[in-house]
Amino acid sequence: MTVFLPWPGHFGDLIRDVLPWLWATWKPGDLLGGNPAHAPLYPGPIDARLWAPIARAFPDGYDYRREAGDWEGEVRRLAVALHPGHDLATFIPGRPDLFPRPAMLVPGDPILVDVVLAPRRKPYIDAKNGWPWADLAARLRAQGLTVGLAGTPAESDTCPANLRAWDFDQPGDAVTGTLRLLSGARLVVSQDSAIAHLAALLDRPQLILYPRPGDHRRRLPIRDAIPTQMRFHDCHAWNRALCLPIHGGPAEVADAILEALNRTILADGRIADWQARPVVNHPDHRPGRTLVLREPDRLLVMRPVGNRLIPVLPLDDDLPSVPPDAATIAARTVACHTCPDHQPGPDRCRRCGCGFVVAERTRSPFARCPASRWPR
Ligand code: SF4
Repeated sequence: MTVFLPWPGHFGDLIRDVLPWLWATWKPGDLLGGNPAHAPLYPGPIDARLWAPIARAFPDGYDYRREAGDWEGEVRRLAVALHPGHDLATFIPGRPDLFPRPAMLVPGDPILVDVVLAPRRKPYIDAKNGWPWADLAARLRAQGLTVGLAGTPAESDTCPANLRAWDFDQPGDAVTGTLRLLSGARLVVSQDSAIAHLAALLDRPQLILYPRPGDHRRRLPIRDAIPTQMRFHDCHAWNRALCLPIHGGPAEVADAILEALNRTILADGRIADWQARPVVNHPDHRPGRTLVLREPDRLLVMRPVGNRLIPVLPLDDDLPSVPPDAATIAARTVACHTCPDHQPGPDRCRRCGCGFVVAERTRSPFARCPASRWPR
């Protein structure tokens, strides 16, 4: 049997990267560590005792900039003491799309709502903070739509709404309300975030908000200005319903929401066959209707005013597919161990913005040095 050690990092990485690995590798009888507040997301029951060192190290939630001592060693020692003789397994950054989509279940009935919004406001400097969600919510409610809020009260306290996810959570549970709201939403609108990935897992029609057209394929300087690859393609790959990137302010986004709710359907057909043809020729055409054709690497939006092709593959798709060799690992290790941003105690990088120790990052085929200090 295996003990899966808890993973402390950002919620978005948990949803998109860690959970698929867990759902693919966990077997009945194995033991799971994790945040008990997220227990409905896991494939089996959580041993909450393994989370205690992380809760002590990060009492206000995970913060990658915080010197938090040897919580990881503490977790390992605790796992060995509680479950002697078991193998230990920990998530290592890898190629996430090797793992199949997790078969997540919604704990309870869907809560019916027109639009779920996911305001985002993190305690650290983040370019996604501060989008005017309250303005958008007011516009939607003025149109007679019901608005639900996913996520946490701390990120949404200024946003008017009809339903709020946390009102449906039990004490110590931070996800059941969000899962029920998402699963009952006619449309989910978020930034490129954990909620976007959850909505994709649940096959909810969704719009994902980016600063400018095309940003859904780029690395953007977000968390503390560290460039981060946007993950729209992952949502597109998982969501079998409508999934479109959008941009603009509250007025433009409200228009996009009304179009998606009232006038847009997924249509059949090869994009190559329809890219240069008017929507009126398509058999699914009706007056005023918008059609969306989808393929693994692109979308075609067909409107009476013309067609728009939207590629979805990341522009920075030069990721290596093989692990680094021993010489590369050694060179990366030297660079990190002599770097002013390296924290020797917990073996972490202050700039990386992830939950991984440097010893793991240097072995990853996908990790990057955010300061470009690793030899190429
Ligand atoms: S990954 Fe880069 S910035 Fe981080 S510790 Fe290593 S060399 Fe320094």
